[in-house]
Amino acid sequence: MAPPSADSLAGLERSEIEALCARLDQPAYRARQLFRWVHVQRAASYEAMSNLPRAFRERLAAEHPVQTTQREHEAPSGDGTRKLLLRLADGEAVECVHIPDTPRHTACLSTQVGCGVGCIFCASGAEGVVRNLSSGEIVEQYLQLQAGTQDRLRNVVVMGIGEPLHNVPALAKALRILQDPEGVDLGARRITVSTSGPPRGFEQLLREGLRVNLALSLHAASDALRSRLVPGGGAGTVADLQGMADRWFEATGRDVTFEYVLIQGINDRDEDAEALARLVGRHRNINLIPMNPVSFAPALVAPLPEHCKRFADRLRRDGTVVNLRRQRGDDVAAACGQLRLHSKKQPLPPPAPS
Ligand code: SAH
Ligand code: SF4
Repeated sequence: MAPPSADSLAGLERSEIEALCARLDQPAYRARQLFRWVHVQRAASYEAMSNLPRAFRERLAAEHPVQTTQREHEAPSGDGTRKLLLRLADGEAVECVHIPDTPRHTACLSTQVGCGVGCIFCASGAEGVVRNLSSGEIVEQYLQLQAGTQDRLRNVVVMGIGEPLHNVPALAKALRILQDPEGVDLGARRITVSTSGPPRGFEQLLREGLRVNLALSLHAASDALRSRLVPGGGAGTVADLQGMADRWFEATGRDVTFEYVLIQGINDRDEDAEALARLVGRHRNINLIPMNPVSFAPALVAPLPEHCKRFADRLRRDGTVVNLRRQRGDDVAAACGQLRLHSKKQPLPPPAPS
């Protein structure tokens, strides 16, 4: 499950780069220079780092590549999202997305190649999990997305391929790197981790002490339905997720958001809305996400827009804050994981010039 190669410079925390510089007999300020080259100037190779001694760069290059991912394919969509397929050093691929929500621009990042949870509506889990991403492979998604736009990507959502809480060490490290004030300097409030709620991973995340936002992918108000929709990987029960919401609030002062993918005829009945309203209580936020179509499960579709609105209105009656999302990016197979699935089955067009 571990990533195969040595981590890139992009995946090292500043303290690790300081230790590396000390070991190579370089003054401490070199670490700050290196860190800024990677995260602020977004240098993709040592060549560009002109204020560092050549011999030092050569020694570094022998230990750590600056980055290990390659931009392979960029897919703009009619609604403005920009999806990037990155090729990893071992030939695997992951996706990341730039979502240009005004006034903020958001980077959506992946944490695994595939996913072991296997939600029935999700392309990421359709073929199981291959491996975890390294911290560098997670950070590089942000850097690669940012390199392709003039807009500053100030928000990060960890909602791409994979279950983030099955890869907590690399996730936590990547988020610490992205929050470093000498680098990208993201605020913790601007980061959201989305999870199906595996209890063991949740405990690990709590111990990391990150004060980020948490989104819990609930999708059903009963365990009977939830275990059909979210079948594997030790995902939590409905009660587990409620407990996580309380504990996250206690630990961070941040209220969680529940996510609920609406699927016609499966979890969109009036009694589902009633049960969900009872379950979330007054204090919680819900994101309702009309299902994006996936090619491997053509029978699963979003309810009609007026039905989604009715479902949302039922929840709002009890004071729940409901955000009914619009579907995005169907035209570039944007429901996460589809571009990767597609790329394995047929060759993609050549990469867009960067
Ligand atoms: N594994 C994590 C994070 C990645 S999925 C999780 O499940 O939370 C991020 C979000 O995308 C989840 O809420 C998931 O339910 C949603 N999602 C997955 N497939 C979808 C689809 N086909 N249509 C709409 N939302 C989908
Ligand atoms: Fe995995 Fe999340 Fe997709 Fe479920 S929705 S299969 S947990 S990536």
